Amino acid sequence: MNITLIEIKQDVPGFDSFFGSWVCQGDLNVVIDVGPANTAGRLIDSLVSLGLDRLDLVLLTHIHIDHAGGLADLLDHYPMAKVMCHEKAIQYLVDPSTLWAGSLKVLGKIAEIYGPPKPVPKERLIPHTENDLKDFLVVETPGHAIHHLSFSFDNWLFAGEASGIYLSINGDEYMRPSTPPRFFFDVLLEKDPNLVAFGQMDPDTRKRERFFMANSVKGFIGYFKEGEGALDRRTG
Ligand SMILES: [Zn+2]
Repeated sequence: MNITLIEIKQDVPGFDSFFGSWVCQGDLNVVIDVGPANTAGRLIDSLVSLGLDRLDLVLLTHIHIDHAGGLADLLDHYPMAKVMCHEKAIQYLVDPSTLWAGSLKVLGKIAEIYGPPKPVPKERLIPHTENDLKDFLVVETPGHAIHHLSFSFDNWLFAGEASGIYLSINGDEYMRPSTPPRFFFDVLLEKDPNLVAFGQMDPDTRKRERFFMANSVKGFIGYFKEGEGALDRRTG
């Protein structure tokens, strides 16, 4: 199977080498995550340039609008394609109004740039519990999103945002959490060696990273404001 990473350029300064889709071409043609609604056309163009005339399956790590927003347009272009996602995420793809309202609240202007996700026909969606693929192992990896999945194939692991964000800046590794419940106190103190490369980023990339770090802190604060109810939901 041929595995390629497609970069999906965005119209936000600093967001160019930030979003991508994995494409696995073989007996089965598979795309993992699709990026936002507003750049679905760019993803389709890239897939067409790769010679992908048939798409069998989309695997969604999670349904945040920056990972799944372009799904409806992609499915329109490839009418045979099905989608595997977490069983509890299906309702939010069929009727994305709740997802969109939540995205506007959390991401504000950036959500507007990503664009609202369009409804996806229910018959195109396969719950992850019904996985019968012989090549891909589906693993539940809640944390960044309650309904986060990771997919393992051969010695590859497509982990979405399950373990944070990893970048390589001028040879230095940069890692940050992408939303709680995990919270790194040393990030707050700016002594985390994983964040050293922050100083070498160009101003637009740094601005983007600052926004998402602040968002992680907001998520952490929100978790405590929700109190015991939230804890029960996550452990129950
Ligand atoms: Zn996400």
